[in-house]
Amino acid sequence: MRPLVWFRADLRTHDNPALSRASRDATRGVVAVYTICPEQWLAHDLAGAKADLILRTLEALSKDLAKLNIPLLVLEHPTFAQSPAALLKLAKAHACDALYFNDENELNERERDAEVTSAFEDAGLKVHTFTDQLVFPPDAIRTKQSRFYSVFTPFKKAWISRHQEGEARDEAPAPRTQDDMPCEPGTIPSSVNGFDRDRAQPDLWPAGEDPARKTLFAFCANEIKTYADERDLPDADATSRLSPHLAVGALSSLQCVNAALDVNQNKLDSGSKGATTWISELIWREFYRCILVGFPRVCRHQPFKPETDRIEWNKNTDHLEAWKAGRTGVPIVDAAMRQLSQTGWMNNRLRMISAMYLTKDLFLDWRLGERHFSRSLIDTDLANNNGGWQWSASTGVDAAPYFRIFNPYSQSKKCDPDGEFIRRYVPELADVPAPQFHDPNAMPALLRTTLDYPEPLVNHAKARAHAIEAFKAIR
Ligand SMILES: Cc1cc2nc3c(=O)[nH]c(=O)nc-3n(C[C@H](O)[C@H](O)[C@H](O)COP(=O)(O)OP(=O)(O)OC[C@H]3O[C@@H](n4cnc5c(N)ncnc54)[C@H](O)[C@@H]3O)c2cc1C
Repeated sequence: MRPLVWFRADLRTHDNPALSRASRDATRGVVAVYTICPEQWLAHDLAGAKADLILRTLEALSKDLAKLNIPLLVLEHPTFAQSPAALLKLAKAHACDALYFNDENELNERERDAEVTSAFEDAGLKVHTFTDQLVFPPDAIRTKQSRFYSVFTPFKKAWISRHQEGEARDEAPAPRTQDDMPCEPGTIPSSVNGFDRDRAQPDLWPAGEDPARKTLFAFCANEIKTYADERDLPDADATSRLSPHLAVGALSSLQCVNAALDVNQNKLDSGSKGATTWISELIWREFYRCILVGFPRVCRHQPFKPETDRIEWNKNTDHLEAWKAGRTGVPIVDAAMRQLSQTGWMNNRLRMISAMYLTKDLFLDWRLGERHFSRSLIDTDLANNNGGWQWSASTGVDAAPYFRIFNPYSQSKKCDPDGEFIRRYVPELADVPAPQFHDPNAMPALLRTTLDYPEPLVNHAKARAHAIEAFKAIR
């Protein structure tokens, strides 16, 4: 029996259930494949930085697989619609008898997988699928009424007790080295139509599971201790920065949870505050993925709370462009947005501040911000991005209450008290004292003119009152 292993958001050899099982079931050498769908990727607002990371991770994966005598082939077709026929043709050309793949949780991906499964089964080939994106299958954590959770705290409680009952899946055993290579590995393309690699930053974001695992273990040995206290300080760089690796699957969430458990005496919700806080963030990731499966409307650009679609968002394109460019006149928002455009990444607290600013101060539709983040972030991920945006816009599951609106200036004082992060990304403010960053009235108008730094686009207090009224009106 020769398996075809279809890699998707699981670009690794460790803890890869589909690869592990296929390599054991095989009686003739395993063939592996990855499908690139440029038009689909564009329709999904995939960032160029992430497309670049995928290509670089594929290079690393192809080398790792070759050591196991498994060739990685690459198929390219415009959209998911061509995947069933293209994969079946490849399976037949290499005399494969069965397809093995790990699950994905997004709606289009699940629909594609159903089509691929039908095509293979209709042709008399077997299909084996595995849970991989999450620690538990996405529909496993349910309320007593068998509903999907829509509030994080009880979800987390249920997740932890299930884990403590020993129901988490085990990490998949290492794949078996095959006797011989059935064909030569394919070439990993140097570019994907529609995606610019010019702004890729390989030094900042090394690709592949080796650097991903090194970062994970180093983080768990060191920075995790101070994570709870420092994660909201962007200048401290105190978070793991593993999100790009998780987004392409160079690491699994299970590997992350297990690494944290290893340094926390196997405890999920006690012991080191840093480790428990970090695990809690990983559970947020699990939660948002379950939401995609339980409430697929969020995959269709719809708000989780349907009534919030009646909100009449502002339509000011100048404000939108100023926000994207980091020229809102609010230093912490501008520093955050410039970190995003310069590095393809942003600290979580800054994501919350800049998303809340777009949706509540500028009162622009959260979908505009979600799309911009998706097209810019190296870790772009539908579940987390949509969850984060709908949380900030108060349209989502367990969202910020509409009247609890971040004041970007007090947030700025808390997360960048000395202004070092702001100065790093907004160099025109290099000589401005920190207190002027945290108070809209403290920076003299003349100084703004001299430094070519804009006046704030809106008055926070007035914008806040307007947002609260608009939300009240739809209740
Ligand atoms: C508006 C908005 C948009 C976001 N867009 C994305 C996105 O496209 N892709 C993405 O991976 N994350 C997104 N997040 C969540 C979070 O900001 C990032 O996961 C985190 O900043 C990544 O940095 P890290 O790997 O150093 O995280 P760490 O703090 O080290 O956390 C470890 C991992 O836990 C998960 N995690 C952490 N915080 C959250 C959270 N709030 N929600 C869900 N999972 C979390 C991530 O997988 C992260 O890699 C978004 C948050 C907001 C508020």
